Amino acid sequence: MKPLRIDHIGIAVKSIDESLKVYEALGLESTGIEEVAEQKVRVCFLPCGDSEIELLESTDPEGPVAKFIEKRGEGVQHIAIRVPNIEDAIAQMKDKGFRMIDESPRYGAGGARIAFMHPKSTGGVLIELSQRD
Ligand code: ZN
Repeated sequence: MKPLRIDHIGIAVKSIDESLKVYEALGLESTGIEEVAEQKVRVCFLPCGDSEIELLESTDPEGPVAKFIEKRGEGVQHIAIRVPNIEDAIAQMKDKGFRMIDESPRYGAGGARIAFMHPKSTGGVLIELSQRD
């Protein structure tokens, strides 16, 4: 597996509207807001060169992003690595003994196919593998 780039950095925020002020001040522009019901989040992508910032706002106090903010406060929540083939990437990481949260790809914002690795097996970093065609 040869990763292609950092696809995006996911940032847990209480309010996308509030946080946008920071990134817009930096000169980044939102490409719109999308709701991912399965993850109980609204997400906003801001392209930055070859990569993007992803702002994640929970739509439900029981959702994973709400839980994250409760435990650790707002801030960087995950790093997404773009891979050429998501099935391949999952299989290889499992072969190497890493624990996956997602054993098969699921739908991510922007039509990506994604799978999360378990932070307990990656030194505390939530890593998202992401394939976009
Ligand atoms: Zn993400």
